[in-house]
Amino acid sequence: MITATKARIESGRLLIGGEWVGGSKKFETINPATGEVLTEVVEASKDDVDRAVEAARRAFEDRSGTWRKMSASERGRLIWRLADLVEKNVDELAELETLDNGKPIFESRQVDMPMVVDVLRYYAGLATKIHGETVNTFETAFTYTLREPVGVVGLIIPWNFPLLLASWKLGPALACGCTVVLKPAEQTPLTTLRLGELAVEAGVPAGVLNIVTGGPETGKAIVAHPGIDKIAFTGSTAVGKEIMRGAANTLKRVTLELGGKSPNIIFADSEIDNAVKGAINGIFYGKGEVCNAGSRLFVESKVHDELLEKLVGRAKKMQPSDPLDPKTRLGAIVSQEQMRTVLGYIEAGKKEGAKLIAGGNRVSVGGGKGFFLEPTIFGAVNNDMTIAQEEIFGPVLSVLAFDDVDQVIELANRNAYGLAAAVWTRDVKKAHSVSRRLKAGTVWINTYGLMDASLPFGGYKSSGFGRELGMHAIEHYTELKTVWLNMG
Ligand code: NAD
Repeated sequence: MITATKARIESGRLLIGGEWVGGSKKFETINPATGEVLTEVVEASKDDVDRAVEAARRAFEDRSGTWRKMSASERGRLIWRLADLVEKNVDELAELETLDNGKPIFESRQVDMPMVVDVLRYYAGLATKIHGETVNTFETAFTYTLREPVGVVGLIIPWNFPLLLASWKLGPALACGCTVVLKPAEQTPLTTLRLGELAVEAGVPAGVLNIVTGGPETGKAIVAHPGIDKIAFTGSTAVGKEIMRGAANTLKRVTLELGGKSPNIIFADSEIDNAVKGAINGIFYGKGEVCNAGSRLFVESKVHDELLEKLVGRAKKMQPSDPLDPKTRLGAIVSQEQMRTVLGYIEAGKKEGAKLIAGGNRVSVGGGKGFFLEPTIFGAVNNDMTIAQEEIFGPVLSVLAFDDVDQVIELANRNAYGLAAAVWTRDVKKAHSVSRRLKAGTVWINTYGLMDASLPFGGYKSSGFGRELGMHAIEHYTELKTVWLNMG
């Protein structure tokens, strides 16, 4: 095993009202590549959440306080300073993410952290471009709209892209002038806690960013709290539904980025080798623990056998190894529990008659107790099987054959989710018409998984609602006020 050299792992504390405070209850965070304990983290109680919300409320409401007096331009510069500090500490943050989540250091260092910086800078720039409009109504009236911060926002984050998904929410929240109570996932709290230190260093005023660690109970306390105006959640569809129900009592604004079972469609007229690479990246990037993973691969029958052979050849070369090794492309599954869930789906696939053509097993890496799985591919999958319908959230690909455009669109859309999709073809007209007919928040043509801070991301159907990234995120962190002045 390669050992970490940059990460400084401290026992966790909570950031409340600008102070780092302890807590009575703690839980362990585990390195999934070794099964060993990394450190202990505070499990924030309901009282801790109360204190965090109070601090956020105070910072938001105090009209003569630092935050409310800060101009949009100053807020932008503050977010930019935070981005600079993330960039300065990028190696340490990447190592922490890899230790906590098990993802390859290549992904943490070259993809996640640079995008965190990019997203923060995008919203730093956007802070000065948030505005209402004047509207012509009557000669005797002056009418205009104001875009005001929605208030205190609760940000609840999953474990698969811990710091990146926190930045998708924190960037627009701060740009709009909201204050924040942020809860990372219990499996991966370390980079968020480090971000809290960097936020203090950047000069984020006390109470503007509060960080509470903990599991579902801490999350529930945030959702139920009457002092929170909006919840931005990324996570599973089951918890998303619970959050909607929990937020109903206080009529909080809610945005939900939920699960996916994205169809990746390869037509016979595509550039097959590129499509194979796209299919491999689509499912095995991030160990398949990616909301937009291309977990249902539809292949036109004419090229099915040729493509499958190439796919299996590539998958077999992609064995899991030490996440800290820069050459590693497949890391450790985030937790023992998640590994068991994925193995359960592999069993379900076999039982329901799909053909296991690659992988399927747990493997030992470096003789350790880590949670590693082989890249797994099932052929002869029927769209009604469990492995074609449910989100597995692991390195498991289901391959389905199809014969024509109408059939594949019907199959692709016959699923509860609608987060993303991809189409591989040389025919431009077909690419665009298929893209229009797919029920998905993002469609990639001849590529897979590209993202940019400026482009909205989010789901149709059970993949949630609301869009993150880009300008549209601003709508979810602001209220729109109409003002009438009688000039008669
Ligand atoms: P999860 O839903 O179990 O947990 C997500 C977060 O919610 C964690 O912080 C958890 O502590 C908290 N939580 C759990 N129960 C809660 C409750 N009852 N009330 C309030 N908070 C609660 O999800 P996960 O297992 O961490 O992440 C995997 C899921 O996230 C997958 O379904 C994946 O598709 C989804 N995801 C979606 C996107 C997207 O952008 N659409 C991105 C990444 C992950």
